Amino acid sequence: MSSIPHSSPAARAGWRLEHSYSLLPDIFYRRVRPVPVAAPRLAVVNQPLATSLGLDAEALAHDSSAGIFSGNDLPDGADPIAQAYAGHQFGHFTPLGDGRAVLLGEHISPGGARVDVQLKGSGETPFSRNGDGRAALGPMLREYIISEAMHALGIPTTRSLAVASTGQPVMRQQPLPGAVLTRIAASHIRTGTFEWAAASQNKVALQTLADYTRKRHDPELDSAANPHLAFLEAVIERQASLVARWMLVGFVHGVMNTDNMALSGETIDYGPCAFMEAYDPSTVFSSIDHGGRYAYGNQAQSAQWNLARLAEAMLPLFDPVEKRAIDLATAAIHSFSDRFDRHWLAGMRAKLGLFNEEADDAALIDELLDLMKRERADHTNTFRALSARVTDRSPLLAPTAFGSWEEKWQSRLTRQGQSPAESLARRQAHNPVVIPRNHKVEEALAAATSHGDYSVMNNLLQVVTRPYANSLDAAPPAEFTEPAAPGSCAYRTFCGT
Ligand code: AMP
Ligand code: MG
Repeated sequence: MSSIPHSSPAARAGWRLEHSYSLLPDIFYRRVRPVPVAAPRLAVVNQPLATSLGLDAEALAHDSSAGIFSGNDLPDGADPIAQAYAGHQFGHFTPLGDGRAVLLGEHISPGGARVDVQLKGSGETPFSRNGDGRAALGPMLREYIISEAMHALGIPTTRSLAVASTGQPVMRQQPLPGAVLTRIAASHIRTGTFEWAAASQNKVALQTLADYTRKRHDPELDSAANPHLAFLEAVIERQASLVARWMLVGFVHGVMNTDNMALSGETIDYGPCAFMEAYDPSTVFSSIDHGGRYAYGNQAQSAQWNLARLAEAMLPLFDPVEKRAIDLATAAIHSFSDRFDRHWLAGMRAKLGLFNEEADDAALIDELLDLMKRERADHTNTFRALSARVTDRSPLLAPTAFGSWEEKWQSRLTRQGQSPAESLARRQAHNPVVIPRNHKVEEALAAATSHGDYSVMNNLLQVVTRPYANSLDAAPPAEFTEPAAPGSCAYRTFCGT
């Protein structure tokens, strides 16, 4: 008698996996299995996220879930695939695909939302090229911390459900402990997925992908006069909003290649990203971004460049007459700048406690940013200082340089109907008290990766997932809000981790 394989509690933890993506033409994916690992152990699991997805958080916190979160076992209903995509990396077109990730399926949450469940670091796939298909523990924990902080900041992002260590080293500059991250995303369809379709020169495949993606993310656009163009415009609008939100909190994505731009409008790919401390638009953290292509202040322009690549890939769908298709796409891409400016200005007005609009607001904002740059003012703490009651403000806002600007701002505040208390509340709701500061993240990763001490990371997570704790009295301990000590090395981040 053959034994009936029985699944672990974690495999039965309420997964409702569907596979709509696998109904696309087969150029878009390959069926693969995660490659088993030697000694999986659960490093961290996101219980609130599990619960919100309708999963049994207790079962997932159980030891047996290490099998699921490492890819050694599969959740009920999984049918793993590696997704195919291409991408412009630092301006150069390359065929890519999931070289170290598998999509287990699309989980249907209790509210009916469809979200991708993906393992990252799960072993070689047909798209691995020269890579080992693996990920190191430190970078996977880093993605976990920063993506959860971004979510708490109210910025659309992929989420992190769990990290499992593999018990196997990965070879980087030195051997590092290996790990697998379970990533939750509205989808993993990227600009690069459309570039892959366009490169295949298979118009039916391109159209099928476009219809699928629109129905998944923007079903209401099916009835638009030109649904493909309306979808492009919706993606442009989401990207404009997303990049403005990044910049309003000082976030530098660091690797805005077209394969790392999700059409859902979520932030994806937490490789070399980091938060800026001293305000400077030329801030770059990535060790490979020598030209500053993806510097803090270049992010809007980079997003627009990427969207132009999406429009090019979709071009045959907009109109059968090429010239007309180009005109439609060009107008859509040009609309990015106004959309971005609108989101940026609205966000900055909120950060300054403004409700109404005046023509000189942009100049007032630029003057503040110029001062911040000159004074090398900490981005987060400057806006935090503006969100403090007047009596509390002086120790936070750098002294004399800001004086005359502050007078202008104060007088601007009087030219709106709302009370000072309403303005203060608005500032406090839009200016985080805390961001995941690079040296605090490194401290947490060092404790976890060198001696399995997750308490530092858990403390940090507690703090950075409550960024708008409003009054100064409720502020987190100073160690989380102070910038890195002056003279500490310039922070560097790495790709291919
Ligand atoms: P990223 O820089 O993370 O956006 O990755 C770019 C491309 O490289 C994607 O196709 C990844 O799947 C692939 N890749 C990154 N790291 C590895 C690795 N260790 N093994 C195989 N492929 C990888
Ligand atoms: Mg990527």
